[in-house]
Amino acid sequence: MNARDDARRQVLIVGGGIAGMTAAIALTGRGHTVEIVERNPDWSVTGWGLSLTGPSLRALQRLGLADACIGRGFGLTQISNCDSAGQARGVIDLPLLLGPDLPALAGLSRGALHEILREAALAGGAVLRTGMSVEALEESADGVTARLTDGTERRVDLVVGADGIRSTVRDLLGMPDQTVYTGQMVWRAIVPRPSWATTLHTFAGPVHNAGLIPISRDQAYAFVTENHADPAVLPQDELAERMRDLLSVFTGRVAEVAATIKDPDLVVRRPVHAGVVDGPWHRGRVVLIGDAAHAPSPQMVSGAALAIEDSLVLAEEAGLHDDVVTALDAFGRRRLERCRLVVETSVKVAELERDGHHAEAHRLQDRCHQVMAQPI
Ligand SMILES: Cc1cc2nc3c(=O)[nH]c(=O)nc-3n(C[C@H](O)[C@H](O)[C@H](O)COP(=O)(O)OP(=O)(O)OC[C@H]3O[C@@H](n4cnc5c(N)ncnc54)[C@H](O)[C@@H]3O)c2cc1C
Repeated sequence: MNARDDARRQVLIVGGGIAGMTAAIALTGRGHTVEIVERNPDWSVTGWGLSLTGPSLRALQRLGLADACIGRGFGLTQISNCDSAGQARGVIDLPLLLGPDLPALAGLSRGALHEILREAALAGGAVLRTGMSVEALEESADGVTARLTDGTERRVDLVVGADGIRSTVRDLLGMPDQTVYTGQMVWRAIVPRPSWATTLHTFAGPVHNAGLIPISRDQAYAFVTENHADPAVLPQDELAERMRDLLSVFTGRVAEVAATIKDPDLVVRRPVHAGVVDGPWHRGRVVLIGDAAHAPSPQMVSGAALAIEDSLVLAEEAGLHDDVVTALDAFGRRRLERCRLVVETSVKVAELERDGHHAEAHRLQDRCHQVMAQPI
């Protein structure tokens, strides 16, 4: 441990998602005092599933949480790429970044991941305030004063903006929103896990791509990426039927799964936005992490990995430098190119997929996953 690890700092984290909670765990683990303000009053998450790739699990392992996530989810080691009738056209063995005894990837419900992170953040001593946000930030030579929406103020050494793709902290810093709509909608539905679903399945359709990822012994999530989609919001009670319609061009195993999509409340439909803020990601003592700084499209399945890696690197650099601003400069130097590569690749993959160039999209994805497999 470095000598600077003893320097206790007061940290305010805005946003209690994957980035904010893992930053709280990593920073309290190094002795810093952390308060999280989360806008959502009941800190709830929608129950859709999430895939934690090798780099996500590796980063969670450093926080001591990989086993819990794998235990609550479903571990996988292979991807089965299938045609629209469900016939396997190729099987990919995923790299085992956690060693031969642990899976390469885990499917998990988002709710389960949030519970694991929340417990660890609170157990580490982070203080959480829900139903609150930040409305002004004022920096002076030796700290930042944050005015919160309940009218109170905090004087801290560091503010971490972990408030997602529509970041308020980013707005307060005057940094532009660089995200673009890729023209796609991602649909996800929680379904009963068919017994054959023991790998991550993708299904190449004539127009849209679909897939199935187990998230527990009993459940899986089905997804379909709708190309050239109208981003208008649809009534929630129509979502199950509309998702079944999108999947109706598939046969075999996909048709079997589609028939089990019945409850519209277990279906989500989200526009795919992606983008990266031009560096640096900090102004003085206020820094952006996670989707607030760099939001990849879901095609790269790497948003969680980047967010958790940010948290680890931020805590490391905060322990290595006397001066907070120097630490944030060092954080940005270590993170910017890796995150930019993932976001830019994800946008390119989305475009290729949208226009039907699947082989080229897979090649780009593979190259980027190889870079992500490198240590941070
Ligand atoms: C449909 C879809 C599927 C995805 N699937 C995967 C996947 O399988 N694997 C993967 O790795 N990634 C996936 N991603 C990406 C991943 O979800 C994100 O990269 C990740 O959630 C980013 O975490 P975050 O904490 O930065 O942001 P968020 O998860 O958005 O969390 C931000 C938090 O800040 C809070 N907040 C927002 N504004 C304020 C404010 N002003 N004040 C206080 N709090 C605020 C929010 O309520 C939220 O709790 C997917 C994304 C989408 C859209």
